[in-house]
Amino acid sequence: MMTYEKRPKAQIDPEKCVGCGACITACPTQAIKMLPGWVSAVQPSKCIGSGTCAALCHRQAPCLTIRSYVI
Ligand code: SF4
Repeated sequence: MMTYEKRPKAQIDPEKCVGCGACITACPTQAIKMLPGWVSAVQPSKCIGSGTCAALCHRQAPCLTIRSYVI
């Protein structure tokens, strides 16, 4: 049995996000979009785990998650 880890993906905590849009502008792959209600959300298929959003957010709303898979 082997395990491998995919690249981390960002997730944004909607309870912390205030919808300032800073992460949307900064994301190198345009992986973040604004949802109704002024909350940002990451599109996992576009996220490369750069950590740009987590580094800049003044609310510490995004976090990077590594998912492990057993194969
Ligand atoms: S930078 Fe933080 S507070 Fe601003 S939109 Fe992105 S996740 Fe929300």
